[in-house]
Order: sequence, then structure tokens, then C-alpha cells
Amino acid sequence: MGSIQALRGTRDILPEETSSWQRVESVARSILGRAAYQEIRTPIFEQTDLFERGIGEATDVVGKEMYSFKDRGDRSLTLRPEGTAGVVRAFIEHGLYAQGGVQRLWYTGPMFRYERPQAGRQRQFHQLGVEVLGSVDPRADAEAIAIAADILRALGLKDLHLALNSIGNTDDRQAYRQALIDYLTPHQAELDADSRDRLSRNPLRILDSKDVGTQAVLQQAPNILEYLSPASQTRFEQVKKLLDTLGVTYQIDARLVRGLDYYTHTVFEIQSDNLGAQATVCAGGRYDGLVTELGGPATAAVGWAIGLERLILLLQQLQPSMVTKVDFYLVSRGEAAEAQALVLAQKLRQAEFSVELDLSGSAFGKQFKRADRSGAVACLILGDAEAETQTVQLKWLKTGDQTAIAQAELLSDPDTLRQQIIRSLNAS
Ligand code: ATP
Ligand code: MG
Repeated sequence: MGSIQALRGTRDILPEETSSWQRVESVARSILGRAAYQEIRTPIFEQTDLFERGIGEATDVVGKEMYSFKDRGDRSLTLRPEGTAGVVRAFIEHGLYAQGGVQRLWYTGPMFRYERPQAGRQRQFHQLGVEVLGSVDPRADAEAIAIAADILRALGLKDLHLALNSIGNTDDRQAYRQALIDYLTPHQAELDADSRDRLSRNPLRILDSKDVGTQAVLQQAPNILEYLSPASQTRFEQVKKLLDTLGVTYQIDARLVRGLDYYTHTVFEIQSDNLGAQATVCAGGRYDGLVTELGGPATAAVGWAIGLERLILLLQQLQPSMVTKVDFYLVSRGEAAEAQALVLAQKLRQAEFSVELDLSGSAFGKQFKRADRSGAVACLILGDAEAETQTVQLKWLKTGDQTAIAQAELLSDPDTLRQQIIRSLNAS
């Protein structure tokens, strides 16, 4: 019998990759923290009903991508396919709106969708997202978009484009929806099967089709921006102007619609040229109707989610995985030396140095080789002679310089030791 493997569409994130994930999280955490966003953590599974109502039954996500199951109490549950519905449920359930003002929330974690796995598309994937609840102000849209751009920029990503559109309010969309149906119906035969199927259920999604035949038909299709009410138009102008003021560049894409039903007015995507077919790294928009749809008080909101797998793919193109360096690699041999080394490692760690202790008991030669491979800044060596005198050899791995030092002395002046490490790290 073969060994058990991870499920199709799921991936292990191994130590060589986790450093990139941690970097993304820490950059995002600090940028979001500076903008007064607070983290929220919601459950990974929810009542199926939440997503059906929130995301919309006619969407691909609800229609064919959800991981839904009956639990032992015969309740229908679903592994969350996205983060917004759960955050909004929590916002309502805990009366966060009662605090008044604007709630700026962020989250990160795994999401689940039954999709065909390929590069940048998995069945368990991760998002980092924000939700700004309680503001209709176009500045909220502009701020949220600018912060997404800041995070991506701080991570060193370039060649990204912001695609921007407005899908207006419910009435605007209703009028446009009808116009689109009227235009597409005589062309039905030229559409791909998926789009034909969407014509009655979710015609806006047809705009998103990658099919060449459908794209050709869409060339002459009505433009949603021409169906916006004057108020919706003004609102879109304001968002654009604020982005201009912020120096955030964008391209208007009148075909941009999002896959979830709850969006209103502003929708956007941040796309990369370097991701092949799965080009969208970050997607979001305004969703003024969702909180009431889920039973809460009327609350305007805007948010986005970054697909972390796609972001990590881009980061790896920039910089192959970085090895995390420890300050010291500690080698020892002989009973007394090994015991002292264990203690020395603990004391150094308590003084906030990072130490990897070699536990192999093998010959010094082999331990030295591992020290070189470890990427440590310095090697500490403890043999019989050092154990006898309570000393240790301190060898700087970049230069090979080596000195004997009393263990007590090594621990007595952590500031100087820290400076020596930094100097060695900076020396080329
Ligand atoms: P797509 O058109 O790529 O299917 P979507 O419209 O379904 O995207 P959203 O629901 O808006 O995507 O999710 C936001 C982001 O999450 C996407 O832009 C993408 O980066 C990421 N994402 C969505 N689905 C997956 C998946 N199955 N695997 C990996 N990342 C995903
Ligand atoms: Mg999708």
C-alpha cells in the first residue's frame, strides 16, 4: 500500500517557504496597524445559509465551488470560501456597529473552494483581507485601495496594474442587466456554453468570460458606465479623483465585474503580468447591501482580499527563498562539554540570541560542516579542554577568525556581542 498524500488542490507549506509567508504577514500587519485596522478571527466553517445569502446563489462560488457537508446533527455546514461573509456575520452578531464610527478590520487564513487545481488556483488557499464597515465616504474606497497598493509595494512587487470600475447601485445594475440580456439574447448561439447558461441566472458574469467567441460578441455590448445614475457617476468620479490625488494609478475596465453578488459601486482588481492566467492578486470593492442582507442594520462597507498563494509566487520570482540565519551554531563533543553546551545555548537564548545546538554527537569535522551549511553568523565550539576551563571557542564563520572566551564573559556583555554579530552580518 502506498503512503498517504495531501489531497488534490491542497499544499504543504514547507519551512523553506514559510519565511516568505511570515514576511508577508508581518509587512501587512504593520501597514494595517498604522492605519488603525484591527485583526478579527472568525471560524473556518459556518452555516451554509450564510454563504448562500451573502455571496448569492447564482454565483460560481455558491453554485459549484462550496465544500458543504452535513454534520452529525444533520446541519448543513460549509468550509468558508471567502472571508467577508463571516466577518459581517460576526459584526452583526456582536453588535460591533453599536460602537459607532468606522470599523476597520483585517483577517487572514485558509479558504476553501472546489476548483480545478492549477498554478495559483487551489482548493485550500489563503487570503489576507480587510473590511471597512460603516462609511459611505468615497475616501474609504480610496484609502482601502491605497493600503492594498502599499502592502504590495512594501513587499517589493512591481508590474502591477489596478483595474477599476463601478457597477453602480442595485437599480443601475438592474437596468444594465436587462440591457445586457436584450443585447446578448439574439447572439446566444455565439456564446460559450457557460455564458449561455449565465444569460438568465447571472448575466453580468458573462463579461468575465475568457472565451474568444464570447469576447467577440461582447465588443459591441452595452457599457455599464453608461447605465450609472447621476449620483453613482458622481461617486465614481470622486473615487477616481481621490486616487489621482494619492498618486495611485489605475485603468478603467468597464467589463470588470466581481464573482460575488454583494458588490455595489466601486469594484477593483490588482493584477500582475507575471502570473499567467491567474493574474489577479487582490480583488475587492464596495458592498453596501451585505450587512442588511445578512440581517444587520444598514451599513456601508468596502473591502478587498489578497490571494496569498499568488502573492508568494510573485515574491519567489523576485527572490528565491531566504534561509533564516541563526546567530550561533553550537558544536560540542564529550560528556561534560555536551552538558555545558546545552546550558550555554539556553542562556544565550534567554539573552535573546538565536542558537542552533548540534545534537548529533558526531565528530567535530562533521559538526563544523553542518555549522557552515546552517547559515549561522558564528560557531561556538565546546570540547573537553573548553569544558575543563569553562570557556568556549568563538569562530566567526565569514572570516574564520577564532578566539577562546570564558563562557561567563560571553554572556556578560550581550550588547557588545550583538554589535559584533551585526558587524559580521554587514561585512561583505
Ligand atoms: P478568480 O477569478 O481568480 O477565480 P475570484 O473572483 O473567484 O478570482 P475572489 O473571490 O475575489 O476571487 O478572491 C480574491 C482573491 O483570492 C483572488 O483574486 C485570488 O488572488 C484569490 N483566489 C481566489 N480563488 C482562489 C483559489 N482557488 N486558489 C488560490 N487563490 C484564489
Ligand atoms: Mg473564482
